[in-house]
Amino acid sequence: LTNSVALDAYWMPFTPNRKFKAAPRMLVEASGMYYRSDDGRDILDGSAGLWCVNAGHGRKEIASAVAAQLEGLDYAPSFQLGHPLAFRFAERLAEIAPPGLDRIFFTGSGSESVDTALKIALAYQRAIGQGTRTRLVGRERGYHGVGFGGISVGGLVNNRRAFSTLHGVDHMRHTHDPSRNLFCKGPPEHGAELADDLERLVQLHGAETIAAVIVEPVAGSTGVLLPPQGYLKRLREIATRHGILLIFDEVITGFGRLGSPFAAQHFDVAPDIMTTAKGLTNGAMPMGAVFTSRHVHDALMQGPEAAIELFHGYTYSGHPAACAAGLASLDVYQREGLFTRAAELEEHWQRNLLSLQNAPHIADIRAMGLVAAIELSPRPDDPGSRGFDVFVDCFEKGLLVRANGDTIALSPPLIIDRDQIDRITQTLFDILRKTR
Ligand code: PMP
Repeated sequence: LTNSVALDAYWMPFTPNRKFKAAPRMLVEASGMYYRSDDGRDILDGSAGLWCVNAGHGRKEIASAVAAQLEGLDYAPSFQLGHPLAFRFAERLAEIAPPGLDRIFFTGSGSESVDTALKIALAYQRAIGQGTRTRLVGRERGYHGVGFGGISVGGLVNNRRAFSTLHGVDHMRHTHDPSRNLFCKGPPEHGAELADDLERLVQLHGAETIAAVIVEPVAGSTGVLLPPQGYLKRLREIATRHGILLIFDEVITGFGRLGSPFAAQHFDVAPDIMTTAKGLTNGAMPMGAVFTSRHVHDALMQGPEAAIELFHGYTYSGHPAACAAGLASLDVYQREGLFTRAAELEEHWQRNLLSLQNAPHIADIRAMGLVAAIELSPRPDDPGSRGFDVFVDCFEKGLLVRANGDTIALSPPLIIDRDQIDRITQTLFDILRKTR
């Protein structure tokens, strides 16, 4: 098939890895834990697609719910009008949400969820008479998608260098100490005081200028960076003390990745606003959702200075087929106990990953729930090439992983079994032994 399609017209999403040229590997089918490649091989999915297919591929319940919905009501405008499934889906999401986050706004992706969350935070501050709070705070090495809001608060300088981004954004120090390897020991014991970097920004600019701070509870795509013990609680405490809204970006950590529905519950820290996407529909339809407290919602919708001039929403907000996919996914997650599955497998997962410690080129291994990063030492003459080679070799050996530079990320569907976990680490071990 790869030979039968022209590769020129389709401009693929790109990453810095593009300097390592390879024809795209074509996926043609998927079922359960496996993709099928165009040359007929089964590829064990070690990355849940792109951190999203939490219940595994080809779920009949989701496919038939989407098909039935498209035949019944394919589309409904999202402004002023509604359809029952969107209300039902929001209600079901509110039941599993972190405490208090029971108002839900639908978007079409993680990036849209982030932009929406930032706009809600700024508009909320205005609505409660705190209009001087126009600044936003992100964190170094944070990833919040590719919209202008997301790259502004995101901590990857390369992603925003070419653009004029939002004004009044600061980035807290990241929490990762590369000199202290974790090797599956879980969140580092020390470092909670890094949350005081928010206090520094408060002293610098004045609390009355800062609207919100956004972090991923566990930074995912930039290398599975685990928050030091107590860090998120301390950040919550500082934000509350200064009237700053706390936003958790749970696009990756949401829907069971860490062994509870959301990271907020895992770390027992409630944000004011939470962004989600990916696992929301098991990857089956493009959709995101922003969860906010009733308080934030009511201030914006009914406040004394209600931001009634404000317009926000997407053509595809609460798309009927996406809601159908989301409801069916939620049914599967709950029926199969997938929200706690990562916690059940965590010990096996960590023990297996730790066995890679003795493989060549390993700099660090970070693991939590059912997510992990294997950091390889870069080739001095060609940084990034080793990670890319491992990604290609894995694919040839029937394993899909994600490479970001020299960091290999794993986040398998939560339906994975112990034998499949063993196979992931064995395959990686064999490949690393032969890698230059
Ligand atoms: N936030 C986080 C934490 C993410 O990991 C991602 C995607 N990897 C996004 C936002 C953006 O989501 P999307 O690609 O659906 O726009």
